[in-house]
Amino acid sequence: MANIIDGKALAKKMQQAIATEVAQLAPKYGRSPGLAVLMVGDNPASAAYVKNKETACHRVGITSFGKHFSIDITQTELEQVIDELNADDCVDGILIQLPLPAHLDAIALLNRLDPDKDADGLHPNNLGKLVRGEEGLRSCTPAGVMELLAESKINLTGKKAVVVGRSILVGKPIALMLIEANATVTVAHSRTQNLASVIGEADLLIAAIGKPEMITANMVKPNAVVIDVGINRITDDAGKSKLVGDVDFAEISQVASHITPVPGGVGPMTVTMLLQNTVWSYKRKFANF
Ligand code: NDP
Repeated sequence: MANIIDGKALAKKMQQAIATEVAQLAPKYGRSPGLAVLMVGDNPASAAYVKNKETACHRVGITSFGKHFSIDITQTELEQVIDELNADDCVDGILIQLPLPAHLDAIALLNRLDPDKDADGLHPNNLGKLVRGEEGLRSCTPAGVMELLAESKINLTGKKAVVVGRSILVGKPIALMLIEANATVTVAHSRTQNLASVIGEADLLIAAIGKPEMITANMVKPNAVVIDVGINRITDDAGKSKLVGDVDFAEISQVASHITPVPGGVGPMTVTMLLQNTVWSYKRKFANF
């Protein structure tokens, strides 16, 4: 049976450390760190993620400037909101909850963020720094995966890593972070031929696909480390709604050496890294580094 990588426990530990740091710094700097999460429309999954983020802010002492907009907000109106938050001295981080409705241009909005307040590390400046291996704001989900691997003491040097998924949000940045950690990285996607044999080579498998339990035990190398980023809501045989990842957890946990559960694996770390990024921007502003 694989070791279960407990994202919930690591998130709790890291959030406690963040809360302690914020409690020390806020009196010194005269205010708490501030995070603005922008959400458009009423997609229930996005609403749940945003609520989690706001609750976590509250828990660690970050002021939350949550802004929820109706689905018909225009690009220009959202751009004005971003401009105001960029100029607001009390806001250290801004996150645009994705996906956005189709009439909005997410890339243009991300480009408009002040790169120093880009809490999800998706502005081209921050992605560019990641490519160059420079310090900067890193995308939360991939950064959370790297924390989980470090906490589990997984040695990545020289290991074959396969990332399934090539989104800007998860797949591409995690591939870059793994290269930085000296893994040998393959990125697979929907056009990859013979996906099963590509996955079968992996000492470390990262699944970021968005297809419920698509990766099965027969595809996975024995003793591989399996990180499941996917979050999919399905209805089980008993008609009950539940969350599952992109890998078949029940079976793969019999062959892998380590595996993350869904829920309770990568998800709590995404929120934690968002808090960490916000505090990093806050410290950078006041300590001028
Ligand atoms: P995207 O839809 O943007 O990307 C999915 C990727 O999977 C694409 O690159 C796509 O390939 C690839 N893909 C789709 N079908 C297949 C297939 N049959 N075989 C191989 N590759 C395939 O999703 P995201 O990257 O934004 O998210 C991925 C998953 O992670 C989702 O379930 C999402 O909910 C979850 N997620 C979880 C987070 C967390 O905190 N745990 C945070 C963010 C996302 P192609 O490029 O060719 O289309």
